[in-house]
Amino acid sequence: MAYENERRLAVEAVIEASRLCGEVQGALVSDVTLAKKDRSPVTVADYGAQALVSAQLAARFPNDPLVGEENAAQLREPDNAALMARVVEHAQALRPNMTDRDILEAIDRGTYAGGRQGRHWTLDPIDGTKGFLRGEQYAVALALIENGEPVVGVLGCPNLPLDLGMPDGPKGCVFVAVRGEGAFMRPLDTDAETPVAVSDVTDPARAAFCESVESGHSAHGDSAKVADLLGVTAAPVRIDSQCKYAAVAVGAASIYLRLPTRKDYEEKIWDHAAGWMVVNEAGGRVSDVYGRPLDFSLGRTLKSNKGVVASNGRIHDQVIAAVGKVLPPA
Ligand code: AMP
Ligand code: MG
Repeated sequence: MAYENERRLAVEAVIEASRLCGEVQGALVSDVTLAKKDRSPVTVADYGAQALVSAQLAARFPNDPLVGEENAAQLREPDNAALMARVVEHAQALRPNMTDRDILEAIDRGTYAGGRQGRHWTLDPIDGTKGFLRGEQYAVALALIENGEPVVGVLGCPNLPLDLGMPDGPKGCVFVAVRGEGAFMRPLDTDAETPVAVSDVTDPARAAFCESVESGHSAHGDSAKVADLLGVTAAPVRIDSQCKYAAVAVGAASIYLRLPTRKDYEEKIWDHAAGWMVVNEAGGRVSDVYGRPLDFSLGRTLKSNKGVVASNGRIHDQVIAAVGKVLPPA
């Protein structure tokens, strides 16, 4: 199997980080914290998760740089000593030997610029921070990119039901995909993997589509127009984070629309690389809103792309045609 060691380490690291996030989220007294608009829980989990994943990567693949969402600059400020103490406490609960310095250094490994040359990892320690704070969906997303293309992708989805048709059933899944080897899902707490595949819907009118909960991240008005053009009658399924890619990969949704809300926004590679890998290997397709392949070789952002459309592949061209009628030309 290709990338066997990378795959194993990535799954382990994502599971460990997912545990940390789950513990922080579990301790969230939602009404008090949310009423105060206190974002510190997500900050603690964000830094803690990046520290754990980055330290594992550094130990096992010391020559691979990391494009991570976070850096430790603010955490090093004396004013943030209390925050730092909470990050240390949560990281040490899982890795008792990590010192403060190890934690800061691990977080700061995430500042790589990315690009086309060689290999690097990309990490979103908590994708979907708004969902995390609402006690809803979020993901720990890790991918290995080689010569500008993702080759391994792992998504930890601590709150995602194992069966999306049973929202009250057991929760917590990990999705993993390696280029050319298919996509798999396993529960967070047991290592039994099962293959996943996209839906076989060929009539877009029968497709379920998903999009961001946050209207600031994807234009809900435009996606409603696209759905109308396609004859989609079902209401959009709104989910935070790369859990949307997971929904497409398991066939619970056939379309994921991420339509630009701002002309100048550049999608970040850590928001898409792992999800891209999982959907592609589950038999689906991912492009930007104009049907162009996502280009992960240009640094920390997808600067040559606009928005994202993921689908089961079979209906992709029809979805892109409908999006083209709603959005202005590229
Ligand atoms: P989601 O949970 O799918 O709504 O996406 C969360 C991600 O949206 C975050 O990780 C941010 O990096 C990203 N984001 C922030 N602002 C925007 C924006 N204006 N358009 C698209 N994505 C954004
Ligand atoms: Mg994100």
